[in-house]
Amino acid sequence: MAGKRSRCSFSRLELILIVCLVLMISLTVALLVLHFLTRNTNGKCSYPSPVPQGCPGQDFSDRGTGGGLQVTAELSPPPSSVPVTHRNDQRAPLLQMGYANPEQVGGGLLSRLYSRAFIVAEPQGSQRVVFVSADIGMVSQRVRLEVLKQLRSKYGELYRQDNVILSGTHTHSGPGGYFQYTLFWITSRGLVQPTLKSIVNGIVKSIDIAHENMKKGRLFINRGTVENSQINRSPFSYLANPQSERKRYSSNTDKEMVLLKMVDVEGHELGLISWFAVHPVSMNNSNHLVNSDNVGYASYLFEQEKNKGMLPGEGPFVAAFASSNLGDVSPNTRGPFCANTGESCDNPQSTCPVGGASMCMAKGPGKDMFESTRIIGQNIYLKAKELYEKASQEVTGPLSSAHQWVNMTNVSVELNATHTVRTCKPALGHSFAAGTIDGVGALNFTQGSVEGDPFWDQIRDQLLGEPSNETKACHQPKPILFNTGEMTWPHPWHPDIVDVQIVAIGSLAILAVPGEFTTMSGRRLREAVQREFDSHGSPGMNVVIAGLCNVYTHYIATYEEYQLQRYEAASTIYGPHTLSAYIQLYRGLAKAIALNGTQELSPGPEPPFFNVTSLTLLPSLSVESAPAGKTFGDVLEEVRQEYREVRGEVAEVTFVGANPRNSAENATEHNFLTVERYSNISSSWRVVLNDASWDTRFYWSKGTSGRSNVTIEWHIPAGTEPGVYRLRYFGHYKKRVNFLRVISVPFEGLSSAFQITAP
Ligand SMILES: [Zn+2]
Repeated sequence: MAGKRSRCSFSRLELILIVCLVLMISLTVALLVLHFLTRNTNGKCSYPSPVPQGCPGQDFSDRGTGGGLQVTAELSPPPSSVPVTHRNDQRAPLLQMGYANPEQVGGGLLSRLYSRAFIVAEPQGSQRVVFVSADIGMVSQRVRLEVLKQLRSKYGELYRQDNVILSGTHTHSGPGGYFQYTLFWITSRGLVQPTLKSIVNGIVKSIDIAHENMKKGRLFINRGTVENSQINRSPFSYLANPQSERKRYSSNTDKEMVLLKMVDVEGHELGLISWFAVHPVSMNNSNHLVNSDNVGYASYLFEQEKNKGMLPGEGPFVAAFASSNLGDVSPNTRGPFCANTGESCDNPQSTCPVGGASMCMAKGPGKDMFESTRIIGQNIYLKAKELYEKASQEVTGPLSSAHQWVNMTNVSVELNATHTVRTCKPALGHSFAAGTIDGVGALNFTQGSVEGDPFWDQIRDQLLGEPSNETKACHQPKPILFNTGEMTWPHPWHPDIVDVQIVAIGSLAILAVPGEFTTMSGRRLREAVQREFDSHGSPGMNVVIAGLCNVYTHYIATYEEYQLQRYEAASTIYGPHTLSAYIQLYRGLAKAIALNGTQELSPGPEPPFFNVTSLTLLPSLSVESAPAGKTFGDVLEEVRQEYREVRGEVAEVTFVGANPRNSAENATEHNFLTVERYSNISSSWRVVLNDASWDTRFYWSKGTSGRSNVTIEWHIPAGTEPGVYRLRYFGHYKKRVNFLRVISVPFEGLSSAFQITAP
């Protein structure tokens, strides 16, 4: 719907858009300037002075959960809660990653984010493999390189690029700011060193725990169908795939969950990994609370059930709900509707008669995003539970791993004896800016644009430079909006070097893919790899796709889907033959595994590691104050004296608060709140919940003159034991001790005791 228009006069909307764009560009320029300023300080990044208050947030609390496995030997069990909790702020920037929406900054905490690690090793042999599922939007190349570096310094050659898979769950309510490529700096306001550090350390910590806790064990695999939890958000693209191919499937999404169960030799439960294709976007882009979304809630339910009597995030059982080929899969099962008129906008451009594309949003199944998250998470959890209980097919056999770095900008693919095609330098199409029905774009772009828009093209040419004819031709029919492959200042805007990797655990082959494969792309890849194994003497492999691994390259749509240029296709950055190239590459890896030839694989060109120390527009922390006559942790609004144990009751207290980033800076692990219950028997208070619980919410709101408030909510679930309870808050505030020195001072706040009575 990108129409032609006159360039002589601008409508009001266009003026607004121009202003938006100029602001965005200024932000980028400011970042770049800051980049060079800070680079000169030799690593000690000093912010140009007037430092706005409230700071960068990033809030990644990692729980190192180690789960490890040994195919017939040790398992390194799961979690011993090791939250490298780095949580942060809110309202002042804790940027969230996923919707590419700079307005979406963190404003508190709904659930903690964790890294869950599993190690499988051969009992006698030297082979081992590591699988990590982290509650982040995606694994970036920067995170991966830093994790590998730390592993090398700790373990030598034991954990390497070929046998370590890092996979993001793709929650859209986690932190941003951990990328080294320039494009991602725009929405994340730079590279936020504390965020990067806490993610890297959290992942390494979870691997350490797994490593230390290995025991002999057994693995079982099971598969089953999850109903009522997904829709295809680009069904018109899916329909572009050949009918003969579509006919072989009963649905336009993959409903199958594959689950790997781990027990030790005595049969004690250790953990599980499940792979299921769904976007963790039940929480939409209006959310400001850090959380792990629907799949995180499934992990929470499973771990709570198995780690009975423990606080959330504690206990030995680890349940990872990892991502898969979720590219075009939405959890918002009621489908797309116009937010203003309520009518359906299930059309090829996802547009509304009034308001266009920005009004077309998918909802459901719950009455709000919190309930939707719970419903989808619960569906996934219940199926996993059933598959886990019934899993009886044992996984045995050798371990192996195959990995290559590939320059994805120039892969040549033999389609047949006479046709060879190539991948392209990265570029994003116009429809990238439209977003999806799970998170619409801010400007007037629509999905399915196969023609450029002279208005935007001119702005692009002036500001970012015109794409070369070669790149334009390579990406046909994609109209290029961001010509990232030809933009290198101050660093490349998108990666050229990409990881391809397969890890085989006996009959299970895990394909670690660097982005978001659509449903049909995933099917083609799995089947091609399966055939490769079959034809080289390894029949009957269970092939699963692990998504968002190792480096982020956006989406991978099929060639046919690409022609329609909806969001996923516009975001297929290496051009129309991206999928074909990956299929060729992963077949090569599978063949090497099947023929025992992984040693002969060329490692390929090593990815670059850019010298970016810290670079962010987020303000740094400064001195804070309490209102007159009050101090930090004082109650401003008290709880009621009594609540009933019924759904919908919320105990709520507001304190004189301080920036949560202070706490994150002061500890690798920090719990912001507890719910405590009075025990008449011991005459003491016992902690029954912490901030990792999905029933508690922590809100920080920033005021003026260094003041801020913290509100803690406890959404009292049905079934809560009647009794006497209270809520506690743990924080740190910044205090000036002399002209040069500002320190963080710990404090606590406590609500009055309140009664919970039976309904
Ligand atoms: Zn996505």
